[in-house]
Amino acid sequence: MRKPVIAGNWKMYKLLGDAVDTSLELKTLVANATHCEVVIAPVFTALKTVADRLEGSNIHVAAQDCAIQNDFGAHTGEVAPVMLKDAGCSHVIVGHSERRQFYGETDESVNWKTMAALAAGLTPIVCVGEQLPDREAGDAESVVKTQLEGGLNGLTVSDLERIIVAYEPVWAIGTGKTATPEQAQEMHAFIRESVGEVHGNDAAENLRILYGGSVKPDNIAELMSQEDVDGALVGGASLDAQSFSKIVNYKQ
Ligand code: PEP
Repeated sequence: MRKPVIAGNWKMYKLLGDAVDTSLELKTLVANATHCEVVIAPVFTALKTVADRLEGSNIHVAAQDCAIQNDFGAHTGEVAPVMLKDAGCSHVIVGHSERRQFYGETDESVNWKTMAALAAGLTPIVCVGEQLPDREAGDAESVVKTQLEGGLNGLTVSDLERIIVAYEPVWAIGTGKTATPEQAQEMHAFIRESVGEVHGNDAAENLRILYGGSVKPDNIAELMSQEDVDGALVGGASLDAQSFSKIVNYKQ
């Protein structure tokens, strides 16, 4: 049984006060949500305060990125996974398409970050997804497969049990264009099959695969009804506690 995960990526929004206010409002609104794990990913500077204020609640805190290793050293501007853990995080988003597109993230760096996050005891949420020209050219599956193979390279079966994959078609992120539930299901099934080929069927069956790309309160239920959709990674609609809580509470 795969427990669903609903994760909110706050990107580079919200000053500290706003991040705390939204977290506390959300804490009340999702207090009864036992059907899924709830995760929010504020900016680095808000992580510790938000994690402290949410202590004892059912909301987990994630970072949006991390360094490729945990060794302390001369790595100006980087934040090691072990430091994120120290700040109260339990999860970290790795390989988000915005980092791949604009900040030089590669499958190799995603792989390093995933390993480093696991070593620090964090749950990596590893993002994959094709761009529109890839889909139009019929290459969506091969692009996603390459990202998966690169990002998850060298992971053991027990590592696989501790990660989450997020399928986020780049053409659906922040555009208002959601993949249809059928498109999402098709790719999620493909991801599960691809992971199974490398890591075995048990690992694939237990892997939670989230969908991301313009998820909103009015489309979450249909997406979640798909067999291989195990949750959502939500950008824009996670910034408002009311809207995000409706997504979390999609079952009620
Ligand atoms: C995201 O940033 O991961 C995302 C899916 O954004 P949005 O929900 O705004 O499309």
